[in-house]
Amino acid sequence: MRLARGCNRCGLQQRIIWGIGPVPARIMLIGEAPGENEARAGKPFVGKSGKELDYILARAGIQREDIYVTNIVKCRPDKNRDPSDVEIAGCSEWLREELRRVQPRFIVTVGRIATQYFLEGSTMEQTHGLPFLMPEGDVIIPVYHPAYGLHSPEKMLLVQADFEAVGEIVAGKRPLISPVDEWAGKEDYGEIVNEDV
Ligand code: URA
Repeated sequence: MRLARGCNRCGLQQRIIWGIGPVPARIMLIGEAPGENEARAGKPFVGKSGKELDYILARAGIQREDIYVTNIVKCRPDKNRDPSDVEIAGCSEWLREELRRVQPRFIVTVGRIATQYFLEGSTMEQTHGLPFLMPEGDVIIPVYHPAYGLHSPEKMLLVQADFEAVGEIVAGKRPLISPVDEWAGKEDYGEIVNEDV
């Protein structure tokens, strides 16, 4: 996207790593921010988490070439820290532009940062593996980040189960949920609204 040339809205001003994949695409996967490997390669999810992601997606019956993969923040934050609220807000115009072009029906939010961008005030514990039907008709599916799974085999099983849920949701095998406005402290976070995908 040429329009972002010279962008320094967030102050990071690193190499911009755009998403990659078909446009339009039925599924868009959104991570947090590029790491060192991604900044070097100029593509999202090519490092350790990226390799894990390829494997987990394939296991869930999803080919990476069929989906559009991007990040909330397009430049690498220093020392691999979480992007700040200012950086996320500064970069959001480019994410909105990608969403306009890709027109996904399903948005897979990978990890807390991406999930809270779409489902403000939510937690991963409440939302992971569930399909939230948004008022505009798109479906947000939060999943644990592959990097989280690299901490232990138990965590990796959680990540894999989330992606298996994604495979079933996009195949229309799970009912969609309509989220409620407030998340914190609620065990009951939504209501099943339809069985059609
Ligand atoms: N982690 C992310 O969230 N995004 C990448 O592109 C790589 C690792």
